Amino acid sequence: MTFRPIRSIRRKIREINHHSRRVERDIFDRAQSIGFVVSAPLALLAVDRMDSWYIRNERTVLATARVFVSIDNDDLRAVMIDDATATSTIIPVGTIPLGTVDLVEPIDRRGWPLVSSSTQFPTESDVRSDARVTGSNRASKRAAIVAATEPLFRKADLVRIDESNTVHLASWTFSWCAWWCILALATTLAIAPFRFAWFLRRKLRNNQRQGRIDRCHCPNCGYNARESILRGVCPECGSELYERPEY
Ligand SMILES: [Zn+2]
Repeated sequence: MTFRPIRSIRRKIREINHHSRRVERDIFDRAQSIGFVVSAPLALLAVDRMDSWYIRNERTVLATARVFVSIDNDDLRAVMIDDATATSTIIPVGTIPLGTVDLVEPIDRRGWPLVSSSTQFPTESDVRSDARVTGSNRASKRAAIVAATEPLFRKADLVRIDESNTVHLASWTFSWCAWWCILALATTLAIAPFRFAWFLRRKLRNNQRQGRIDRCHCPNCGYNARESILRGVCPECGSELYERPEY
């Protein structure tokens, strides 16, 4: 037994189908359908291409540490800080701040319109503010500052040494759908002017033929066929006189 509303909907659809005029599919309809089908594999290709063409590079700061140098000896001391309290870090007694190091994780996000895959690169140490490091030993000081923070980051298990690639299947599917829509729409838009020109040409031709028929002239050549109307055939070109215009 079928649910009542479904039955009535089915009946309604049958009724609509019965009363609707059958429209013949023309060459443009066919071209559009082929466009829809061809767009499907092309969309796959587009998503694949976008993975290498559209790349967003992102650098995420995982942690920040501040390095201090002891006044008595040149010992470096690193302290992990939160971003919120970065400006008001308590300076350990007998030391001066030397620099701030960010542990940065570079990520490449690929794909358009959605991110369909991403690559995580090994982490990098980025010396952010080292106003107090000056002079010729700047480069070596930088290296020392980075080295001082390394055990701290390593202890917090934040250091990444390997590269990893992730494919986001859900957004891959969404991107594929989006590309399919774009390509299918492009096909439709490309066909539209030709379709419109064809429509105008048919309309003008039909109007001209109908005008001739109304005046009892031959719809094909325009010959005045009033005399031979009962024969139903044009004496000039031999075409039918009672032709109905095409729609
Ligand atoms: Zn004729």
